[in-house]
Amino acid sequence: MPDAPRFRRALRTPLGMSAAVATTIIALVAIFGPMVFGDTADRIDTDQIGRHSGLEHPFGTDALGRDIAARVMVATRLTLELTLFATLIAAVGGIVLGVLPTVLGKRAGRLVTATVSLLVAFPGLLFVLFLAVIFGVGTYSAAFAIGLGAAPATARLVQNLTLSIAGIDYVAAARILGVGRFKIIVRHVLPNIAEPVVLFLSQTAAGILVAFSGLSFLGLGVQPPDYDWGRLLNEQLDRVMIDPMSAVGPGSAIVLTGITFGLIGEVIAKMSGGRTAPQGEVAADPSGAESPVVDRAPEGLLHIDHLQVRFPGGHTAVRDVCLTVAEGEAVGIVGESGSGKSLTALAAAGLVPHPGRVDAHTLRFAERDMRTQAPQGTSMAMVFQDPMASLNPALTVGRQLSEVAEVHHGASRAAATARAVARLGAVRIPKPEQRVGQRPHEFSGGMRQRVMIAMGLMGEPRLIIADEPTTALDVTVQSRVLGLLRDVRAESGAALLLISHDIAVVSQVCDRVVVMYAGRVVEELPVGDLAAGVAHPYTAALLGAIPDMTTDRDTPLVTIPGRPPEPGEDLAGCPFAPRCERASDRCRTEQPVLEPIGPGRRVACWDPVTTHTPESEEAR
Ligand code: SF4
Repeated sequence: MPDAPRFRRALRTPLGMSAAVATTIIALVAIFGPMVFGDTADRIDTDQIGRHSGLEHPFGTDALGRDIAARVMVATRLTLELTLFATLIAAVGGIVLGVLPTVLGKRAGRLVTATVSLLVAFPGLLFVLFLAVIFGVGTYSAAFAIGLGAAPATARLVQNLTLSIAGIDYVAAARILGVGRFKIIVRHVLPNIAEPVVLFLSQTAAGILVAFSGLSFLGLGVQPPDYDWGRLLNEQLDRVMIDPMSAVGPGSAIVLTGITFGLIGEVIAKMSGGRTAPQGEVAADPSGAESPVVDRAPEGLLHIDHLQVRFPGGHTAVRDVCLTVAEGEAVGIVGESGSGKSLTALAAAGLVPHPGRVDAHTLRFAERDMRTQAPQGTSMAMVFQDPMASLNPALTVGRQLSEVAEVHHGASRAAATARAVARLGAVRIPKPEQRVGQRPHEFSGGMRQRVMIAMGLMGEPRLIIADEPTTALDVTVQSRVLGLLRDVRAESGAALLLISHDIAVVSQVCDRVVVMYAGRVVEELPVGDLAAGVAHPYTAALLGAIPDMTTDRDTPLVTIPGRPPEPGEDLAGCPFAPRCERASDRCRTEQPVLEPIGPGRRVACWDPVTTHTPESEEAR
């Protein structure tokens, strides 16, 4: 929510001052109007019946000789009460309907979404009249009907905002840490969608004011002897042609108050300053066939076999990926954008965004089948690329860290905070006792990334998945974060799955490198073998693009010519063929198979650079 300085800044603008003055006047009239003008408004004076507007009665008198101006003042309180009551109904109904699809299972969620869509498509006024008839003629039943009538539009906004927040890294991080859906909604989603929702509701309140006045004008809202502005308009219906001023009082009160609600919304928008899915369907191998025999490392902590990630429209982003990470091992996946490396990691964590579909013969982490189960407790930790998006801006860093200890270890607030301080110290955040009370924007990029690592260490992770954790950092900070990851792994014994486009980064931290291209694994080898010579031309090109101490600073950096295949582009043979100097006719027509070429080494290439298998030679 907006902080105090932004609030003060917004109030100092002409818009803010106008909103503040108008709100103050309306609030004062609502509070003191009935006390000051109550007697005048209710006094029946047969000598004054039907008086035209003038100095004594600015808006004239009604059919019982009562002063219309005084009645407009008195009606302010009831009109505002009913408007705010209906807005509250719209807010509560809209928020509940809006977050239900996220809290409920897939089928029930779809049903709620479809119902909301149907209600939004239904003409609003007809819906309100329908509800008003159902609830019966009466003051609060009309307010209830109008509130419910505004709820679907609010729900649609909340649904859209919730979906956008659900894909943000800190929500994914909370999910991977096992935080329940309801708690994620309350702690992470609602605080971060509050501003646009409040802005929307302030404008909805203006609409509700007009709609409610309309119902009272039609005789379906406030009933005599009570009166609101709409009721006063109704009472002057017969006289409006004779003395139009009799309708100007209640009419202008409705218009000016509606404008004030709009101004309040604009000020909230200025104060906000522009701040702004669950894993897609997971299925076992549909064929139910046994995995083909492939040569791979023995089953480990993470075991992925023939993983496919597909998106609607026939785009297969990850194809037949087989990968194993042993207990305590550090494995790096490298490749250009669109190679499928991040989706492979997300599939391992159960976080592929909707509508992605995950198929695999085996997808197992720590003895759990990830096709049907979430990772257990804090056994898996995620560190994402964008440290700002990885942390909830609405919560202090300490609160976000301590939540893990509270949820998973049943720790008290004090014990959880003490653990958070200790973990911040462990990732070398200076003065962790003070830093624990600060929000993410008060940390530098490198520190935020360290906070994410500390969050992973709040539990006892057996696997840390780090997706491009250093891409947004400068070289010095990057090397510190990599050093920290190395130390954390050495101390905790956790395995590491490091995703990077930079093979140099992976070689600094990992034991084994898996190279991906166009959604497939094209080479896998121990880091120690990188210097001795790689087999796949694409891995060789990645290594060749790394500048070293002998690189001439005046010559442009080496790049890999051409571009990777577009999503959905299906090449008959090797997907790297259009960029490969070694490509032959066979390469262009026949897909190379991932084959073992030595201890811990596999390559998918018909003409490897350094290591030739007897099979590949024969095949050529
Ligand atoms: S299979 Fe052919 S085109 Fe593909 S990387 Fe190997 S040599 Fe190049």
